[in-house]
Amino acid sequence: MNTKFIFVTGGVVSSLGKGINASSLGRLLKCRGVKVFMQKFDPYINVDPGNMSPLQHGEVFVTDDGAETDLDLGHYERFIDENLNKYSSVTTGKIYLRVIDKERKGAFDGATVQVIPHITDEIKLALYDVAKNSDADVVITEIGGTVGDIESLPFLEAIRQFRRDIGYQNTMYIHNTLVPYISASQEIKTKPTQHSVKELRSLGINPDMIILRTERKLNKAQRDKIALFCDVKQECVIEAEDCESLYDVPLMLAKQNIDDIVCNHLRLKTKPLDMSMWEKMVSDIKSLKERVKIALVGQYVDLKDSYLSVYEALKHAGYSNRVDVITEPINSSLINDGNVTEILKDYQGIIVPGGFGIGNVEGILSAIKFARKNKTPYFGICFGMQLAVIEYSRNVLGYNQATSRELDQNTEFPLIDLGMNKGMRLGLYPCTLQKGSKVFEIYGKEKIFERHRHRYEVNNNLHHIFKDTDLVFSGINVDEGFAEMVELKGHPFFIACQFHPEFLSRPNRCHPLFKAFIKESIK
Ligand code: GLN
Repeated sequence: MNTKFIFVTGGVVSSLGKGINASSLGRLLKCRGVKVFMQKFDPYINVDPGNMSPLQHGEVFVTDDGAETDLDLGHYERFIDENLNKYSSVTTGKIYLRVIDKERKGAFDGATVQVIPHITDEIKLALYDVAKNSDADVVITEIGGTVGDIESLPFLEAIRQFRRDIGYQNTMYIHNTLVPYISASQEIKTKPTQHSVKELRSLGINPDMIILRTERKLNKAQRDKIALFCDVKQECVIEAEDCESLYDVPLMLAKQNIDDIVCNHLRLKTKPLDMSMWEKMVSDIKSLKERVKIALVGQYVDLKDSYLSVYEALKHAGYSNRVDVITEPINSSLINDGNVTEILKDYQGIIVPGGFGIGNVEGILSAIKFARKNKTPYFGICFGMQLAVIEYSRNVLGYNQATSRELDQNTEFPLIDLGMNKGMRLGLYPCTLQKGSKVFEIYGKEKIFERHRHRYEVNNNLHHIFKDTDLVFSGINVDEGFAEMVELKGHPFFIACQFHPEFLSRPNRCHPLFKAFIKESIK
C-alpha cells in the first residue's frame, strides 16, 4: 500500500472545527499536487446517519454511490473537491454489524470475538479499503467525538495499531483542542489541552501536531509551554483562530506552514504550494457588498445544520453572482395563508429544501402559493418539488384532494406516491432535460447526473393532469419515466427538482441551479 494516513482527533470539547481543519489541510495538500481522499469515523452505534433526526444530528449528506453519511463529508467535498464514497463513512454500528455478520458465518473459527483484535481489525480493514478504492497518496481520517469518550476507544486503539502496521513516516496524528480565554482574568488557558493530550498519550498515541482552536492569539511562551507539556515540536503547535469565512481556514493554516510540516513528516515529494485560485476566491468573498435575502422555509430549520449544504450552496451561488446571500430560516409551522405575505414579502427569493413526514406541511404550501402568485423566485428541492406539484394541482387545477402518500397513507389521490423500488432511492442518477426549457438553458446540456435521497415521486399515472398546463415536467428520468424537474411557464423562476443539487455545489464551482436562482433573485 502506497497510501499514507493522517489521523485527526479532537479533545476538550466537541464542535471545535476539526472537520474544517482536516478539510483545509486536505485542500492544502491538493494544492501541492498530492492526491487526497478523506474519511470519517463516527463512534455512534447507528449504522449510518440515514435514520438520525436532522434536528439532533444535522443534515444527512449523500455521496454519488448513495451512502448516507455524516455532514462532515459535505465539508470534505467542498474543500478538497473530490467525490467521496461509502468507504469514507464508517460508524461503530457498521463495524459491529460487519463483525457480527462474519461471526454468524463462522468466519472466526470458534474464537472468542473481542474488541481487540476483532473490532480493531475491522476498523483497520476500513482504512485499507479506503486506500485501495481511492488510490490516494494521502487519506485524512477524522475520528469523530472527543478523546476520553468511551465510544471512540476502539477507533483510537485501531489507529494506534495502524502506525505499528504501516510505519511512523506513513502516519501522522493531529490532535485538535480548545484553548479557552477567561475574560475576568484576561488569560488564555492551556491546561485543558495538556489534559486532553495526556489522555491521548495514555491510549498510546503521541500527537505529532496540535491544532489549537482559540479566540485570541497565543504568545510564544504559551505555545512553547504546550509544545513542552504535550511533547510536540514547537512548529507543530498550530493556532486556529476564528475566521470570517470558513474558506479562510486553509490560508490561515498555510501561514503556519502546516503543509510543509505534514509533507516533511510523511516524506511526500510535492510541488510548491499554489493557493492562488483559493486566495482569489476568499478575497472575492470578503469584498461582497450587495446583499440578497432568501427565505428558507422548512420543517427542521431550528437547527441550522439540518440544511447545511443548502446554506453553503446558496452562499456559493452568491460568490459567483457577486452578492452576499443572507439566508434566513423560517419554520413552516409559523406560516399560514393569513400571515404568509407579512412573513415573506421582504425576501427576494424563497427556497424549500428537502423534508420528511407530515409535520408543518401546510405552511410550506402557503409559502409556495405565495411565491407562485407573487412571482417571487422559487426553488424547490425534493420535498420542495413534491409540494410545489401538489400546490399547483390543488390551487390551479382544482384537485383539492391531491396529496402525497407520505402525508396520507390511505389517500384516493396519491399525486405523489412511492417510487418503483418502494425504498429510498439514493445516489447519482441521470435526468434528461427537455430542450427549450429553462433548466435546459441553465445547465446548457441535455443529460445531467444528480444525487438523490427520496422515497416518493410524482405518480406516473397522474402525469396527464398537467397536460397543456403551465407546469412543465422539464426533467425526466427516462429509464423509469418519472418527473425529476418541474418549472412553471410565465413565472420568472419557479423551478423544482426531485434530487439534491446542494450536494454537488462547491465554493469555487457553484451549482448551476443555485446560480440561476440567485441571479433571478437579485433582479
Ligand atoms: N419525504 C420525501 C420523500 O421521501 C422527500 C425527501 C426529501 O426531501 N429528501 O420522497
